[in-house]
Amino acid sequence: MEKGSFFNDRIERLPRADLDALIDERVRYTVKYAFENSPFYKKWFSDHQINPDTIREHEDLIELPLVSGGVIRTHQPPATEHFLFKSADWKDIFTIHETSGTSGVPKSFFLTWEDWARYAEKYARIFMSQGFGSGDRVVICASYGMNIGANTMTLAARDVGMSIIPTGKCNFPHRILASYQPTGIVGSVFKLVHLARRLSNEDISPRESSVERLIIGGESFAEESRDYLSELWDRPVFNTYGSTEGTMCGECVQHTGLHVPEDMVHLDVYDPGMDRFVADGECGRAVLTTLLPVGGKSGTLLLNYDTEDTTVVLSRDPCPCGRTHMRIFTPQRESETVWILGTPVNRVDIERGVFQRPNMEYLTGEYEAFVYGQDDEDEVILRVSMECHDPEETDQHLVMEQFLESFFRNKPLLADAYGENFEVTFYFTPPGALELYRLKGRPKRLVDRRE
Ligand SMILES: [Zn+2]
Repeated sequence: MEKGSFFNDRIERLPRADLDALIDERVRYTVKYAFENSPFYKKWFSDHQINPDTIREHEDLIELPLVSGGVIRTHQPPATEHFLFKSADWKDIFTIHETSGTSGVPKSFFLTWEDWARYAEKYARIFMSQGFGSGDRVVICASYGMNIGANTMTLAARDVGMSIIPTGKCNFPHRILASYQPTGIVGSVFKLVHLARRLSNEDISPRESSVERLIIGGESFAEESRDYLSELWDRPVFNTYGSTEGTMCGECVQHTGLHVPEDMVHLDVYDPGMDRFVADGECGRAVLTTLLPVGGKSGTLLLNYDTEDTTVVLSRDPCPCGRTHMRIFTPQRESETVWILGTPVNRVDIERGVFQRPNMEYLTGEYEAFVYGQDDEDEVILRVSMECHDPEETDQHLVMEQFLESFFRNKPLLADAYGENFEVTFYFTPPGALELYRLKGRPKRLVDRRE
């Protein structure tokens, strides 16, 4: 498809009133489908004596239960005999996935081929909105397998007319770049920082490569780390947010937040303390509802699914790119937030302090932080370990100053407590010495070690 155009012009530029009407039509069909095909929802409506026909528009979704990962786990084997969220016949289930939970049994997830096609369209729209099109060649460093991201992007490429180089990881030989002259790479911030450094060590300048854009996904990050990555490659870096449950949101060339494909997924922002949806501009938990086109089928239907990620609706006005679908702030994982003396501290707050630009003359960007309690919980120590190219050559005083200034900027209560009952200690490690290198799986960079 022609670069700079829209994947689905009519839908992506649908005027707000028409888009809202389409959403409400799909809410009605989706709720009806859930009632008729999902054992969980069938029972729920019966138990609560609620007629699904009374759910007429998206505001009515607040009447329905919030579904967390825990609710899914308690409605599937071994807790129950059958998968109560499975909402299509086996003959229609194309693939089965398990999402790696941080604890216990993984959640099972069933996809029909239609689900795949819809997921792929979401990524196709994102690619096009970032300036990709026919003839582009993209290396996908995200892992294939039970995660659906890499497979969905590969499927999306077919419809956009792009070529995919499915390396699955970022440690591919530089031959890949030289031979195929890729125009884009998908990976995490850290993988792409590593790749730039490795290429530089091999006397290949990332800035002179064929790559035109970088796409990061699967994790939240500090703007400072994105800026640093963009500087290393001298290329724009776009964010995407996706999950097995079907959120696929992405930044367009305007960098004005992530567009939500509102005709296929409905996103509300919820306040768990107030038990209500919050207004645009307020921060809360991203809660999503699958939206099916009338007549569509879905393998796992979720209404009001609590992603446990926090976000903010930035705007429902048309974007300068021409798309009318709403834009949200990069979601952050609630599981990566710890509370210190009444103040929430997210992994991204630590990352921002690490990636202050002057620090990056000395640091690799790899870091980990631990929270310890003293005596009673009223005394807290935050220990930050940062990997240096060479600790001996690092201006440690400068790095500490930069970190603390950034960290305290939006945390006035912790700034007041600093030196009283809140301490920050720093460790400067040589390459390869962080604790996270010794652990398997997704690195945990902010760990609460209080009792
Ligand atoms: Zn836009």
